Amino acid sequence: MTLKKALIGAFVLSWLLLLAWAFQDVRVFVRVHIAHFLGWHSGVVPEQTSEAIALHEFQPRAQLIRESTDNPQKPAFPVFEFHGHIFPGYEGNLTREMDDLHNPMFVDLALRTTTVEKFDKLREKYPDPRVLIFPGLNYDRLKEDGDPFQKMAADLEALARDRGVKGIKLWKDLGLFREYEGEIIPIDDPRLDPVWDVCVKYDLVVGIHTADPPAFFDPTDHENERFQELARRPEWSFFGEGFPSFRELLAQRDRLFKRRRDVKFVALHFGELAHDLGAARKLLEENPNVWLDTAQRIDELGRHPRAVARFFNDFQDRILYGTDGLPDRAKIEIYWRFFETDDDYFDYHPEHKPRKGFWKIHGLDLPDSVLKKLYYQNALKLLNISEAEFFRYYE
Ligand SMILES: [Zn+2]
Repeated sequence: MTLKKALIGAFVLSWLLLLAWAFQDVRVFVRVHIAHFLGWHSGVVPEQTSEAIALHEFQPRAQLIRESTDNPQKPAFPVFEFHGHIFPGYEGNLTREMDDLHNPMFVDLALRTTTVEKFDKLREKYPDPRVLIFPGLNYDRLKEDGDPFQKMAADLEALARDRGVKGIKLWKDLGLFREYEGEIIPIDDPRLDPVWDVCVKYDLVVGIHTADPPAFFDPTDHENERFQELARRPEWSFFGEGFPSFRELLAQRDRLFKRRRDVKFVALHFGELAHDLGAARKLLEENPNVWLDTAQRIDELGRHPRAVARFFNDFQDRILYGTDGLPDRAKIEIYWRFFETDDDYFDYHPEHKPRKGFWKIHGLDLPDSVLKKLYYQNALKLLNISEAEFFRYYE
């Protein structure tokens, strides 16, 4: 009888212990006290230890000590910013900030500048001819009667003819959610041909942003490598019904590149293929009318630096320097470090910008001949600007 009682007691006790062991606080408490009892001391403070902390609170400091740790203070060559934006509310002195960053020319991808009137207003604020304004398409026309595509083309033609713009910017809304009469306009929609015809007539370069990183098209869940970013910016997720897939968007874009060989396209953000160099290689090999820019993709590029350095060498005439935004020294020094050094394992974002995912990057250590093309020669060639003009702004 007593044996039976003892066995039941032991059984119940073992279950209770097992249950208690499920709690991390209990495990830590027991382990620490056993360690102390045995005379092995532990630095952990049980009350401050928890398995679960919020992702935004997890900011580990790497213990890696590099022999070279500083960002370059200046680029090896002056830079042509192909992917700039003057954000609304900016009050700085753009010319001075460009000079400070060795950046003689700056393309403002000005999506909201869609008419001559709006162009003039922006130009009045930024009269410096070193700031090249690339307008957007006038989608307001989609709400009007008549053929809105012809009207959009006419608005663009006025900007090219009367204001001499050298290029335009198309945003990711095209193909993803920009609608006409209740249907999403596909990127390769032939109704846009009048717009491309204007681009050919005036030799306009088309900067086109298609889709977004593929993680933005996956569920925002524990498997998503950009979970933290998408949790912070849920409006960036394009997962699910109602959105074309990542593959479909790129397929539409690539059909346009093929059908309009007469138009020069810059597939912005590395053509959204910074994570897939095989596909990027195919894109450039099959489409001689396509270039890539680096804006906001050093994070992706920097996690496979050896393959990326080979790619930059192979396509050294087809990649443009872009950083996506205003001159921001802390951010841009990281671009220089990425392109120019062989530093390992550093942050792709400055302290004042949040990370996109939990990884660090490694530098490309590009040779000077490739750097020069990337930093300014390719952009000048593409936009028909002479080196003499570029260097006139760079003393
Ligand atoms: Zn941008």
